[in-house]
Amino acid sequence: MDATRLQLHAFPNNRFSTFDMMSLYTLDDLRAWPAREETAGHRLSLAVLGWPVEHSLSPVFQNAALEHESRGMRYVRIAISPEELPEALRFMEQHGFLGTNLTIPHKQAVLSMLASVDPLAQKIGAVNTIRFDADGPRGFNTDAPALTRTIRDAFGVDLRDLRILILGLGGAGRAYAFQCAAEGCERLVLVNRTEQKAQALATELGPNFNTAKVDGPSARITARRWNEVVLKEELETIDLLIHATPVGLRRSDPSPLHDSLLAPHLLVFDAVYGRGRTPLVEAATRMGARAIDGSSMLVEQGALSYEIWFESDAPRVAMREALTKAANMPQS
Ligand code: NAP
Repeated sequence: MDATRLQLHAFPNNRFSTFDMMSLYTLDDLRAWPAREETAGHRLSLAVLGWPVEHSLSPVFQNAALEHESRGMRYVRIAISPEELPEALRFMEQHGFLGTNLTIPHKQAVLSMLASVDPLAQKIGAVNTIRFDADGPRGFNTDAPALTRTIRDAFGVDLRDLRILILGLGGAGRAYAFQCAAEGCERLVLVNRTEQKAQALATELGPNFNTAKVDGPSARITARRWNEVVLKEELETIDLLIHATPVGLRRSDPSPLHDSLLAPHLLVFDAVYGRGRTPLVEAATRMGARAIDGSSMLVEQGALSYEIWFESDAPRVAMREALTKAANMPQS
């Protein structure tokens, strides 16, 4: 029996014999992962882990990049629950994975499972990219640096010149807050359902905001609990609203903000992305604001991950084209 047939015999349901980049794998699949040279000449060596992960479009543009550069590898989605994460990482390392991305809800919990963490990711307290090095998995954060470029490309403005409100302070929201602080934005308002998280982060970032800027008497960094009154009050003097909760991930979700809170002066960056407009982008556009969803940011953070894995420039044009094409495809 030749090697390929042996592989197929080992995986009787043929899950690995043909590659469909939108297949959803699980921990059970990882337990029985095929040998490196399996799957139509391509190694399944990169992945995104999340819970849920079905919404992730990362395979679309990561596979376009791998194909564009003839890397002989493929990138897959693996649904991994929080309890399964340590085991999943162990299997990936054993099976010779090059690296992985992490999405909700793993970005903070994973920190204690890594051999080493890049200083920026350590400071942010969130990891969205892992590279499996000889001495174990190393964590990085590419969400933060991707924000600066995404906002400049979309709106032609720099974070340092803006009054910014971040709604939601999980892995992504924290990373964005660190980037805004590092860039020295005019003012930063941190709003979260769990207020203590916002308070703790404001304390941590406080030293970045000690110098005076030109924005009148209001404190340069403020933490607030999420409610309509707070948002109404704060959004009047905000230039850029960043939304970083999962509300909007499901097509049936409402907009996280009522229309009456949105106004034409706002720039809106909704970290959520999917096929078609997100509920927040719909609402902001309806109210005359300029708004983008998370897809351009997604490509940028993915391009930075790719550069960590391969230590060479990512083919951004091919990646963007693949995502645009996928977003315009009719829904099945
Ligand atoms: P996470 O770590 O799970 O954090 C979730 C945050 O949202 C927490 O602050 C949580 O508040 C808040 N939250 C959750 N459900 C809520 C609800 N129903 N109402 C109000 N607040 C709620 O998630 P994450 O990794 O930061 O991701 C957040 C979003 O950003 C996701 O939609 C993800 O897809 C998106 N994202 C996009 C990109 C991109 O490149 N475009 C990159 C990263 C993430 P508590 O603290 O009170 O629990």
